[in-house]
Amino acid sequence: MNNLVLSLAPKFTKLLTLVLRQENPQLEDTAVETIAKFCHDLQDLDLSKSFKLGDRSLYALSHGCRNLTKLNISGCTSFSDEGLEYLTKFCRKLKILNLCGCIKATTDCALQAIGQNCNMLHSLNLGWCDNVGDLGVTSLAYGCPDLRCLDLCGCVRITDDSVIALASGCLHLRSLGLYYCRNITNREMYSLAHSRVKNKASIWQPMKGRYDEEGLRSLNISQYTALTPSVVQALCDTFPALHTCSGRHSLVMSGYLNLTSVHCACAVQSHRTLNSILHTAH
Ligand SMILES: [Zn+2]
Repeated sequence: MNNLVLSLAPKFTKLLTLVLRQENPQLEDTAVETIAKFCHDLQDLDLSKSFKLGDRSLYALSHGCRNLTKLNISGCTSFSDEGLEYLTKFCRKLKILNLCGCIKATTDCALQAIGQNCNMLHSLNLGWCDNVGDLGVTSLAYGCPDLRCLDLCGCVRITDDSVIALASGCLHLRSLGLYYCRNITNREMYSLAHSRVKNKASIWQPMKGRYDEEGLRSLNISQYTALTPSVVQALCDTFPALHTCSGRHSLVMSGYLNLTSVHCACAVQSHRTLNSILHTAH
């Protein structure tokens, strides 16, 4: 694979998308350096699971591929936070960034750099990056106001402060993964629900009709030991696009909570329909 890239990259100078996802990582820094040297128009690059790659690759991309909007380096465990910080200074057009499992690279300093430099970010995967803390998530929340999808599954260090920051900074958030984030409490999940009510009154009210388009559509809170059904119900009431019904299941909470005690908008709707049928019958 490495030699193939070395020989082909110089011939494809107009390349926009390149997927180099591998099961058995062979890709080395020399390949990414060659890509960066010849493919300056590249917008979408997938280097996932290339754990032989080091920061040299990130430095090369910073200089050669500044038009990147989508970058997947999940499972690239050798990248450091300095390398990632450097990349964000030059690749400022990034909208979709997958850093799942990049444990060494995803420190709070690196997330601060993302919050400072990548303000157009829509989607960020930080799954199983257990160096991520509240400081980093807070910088993201206020630096990337367009964030729509954020996966924090397995970020065990984050606490209530992160949820508060996201609730107030990222008003367009539609998908939030909090699987295994054990340090978040009921109180702050309520704040996520209530922030929406507060923001809806001040910001969204003049834009009637947009209500259904905005707000969380997907939330994973599995393996939460502390949450109660009532707080999950509050979230469902606030975000009508979250579903617990079979088939639409966009609120995932397997593990500890009893699904049957939480009702999504469908249940309320069918209850109303049933009531009106009964009324008409009388
Ligand atoms: Zn439903």
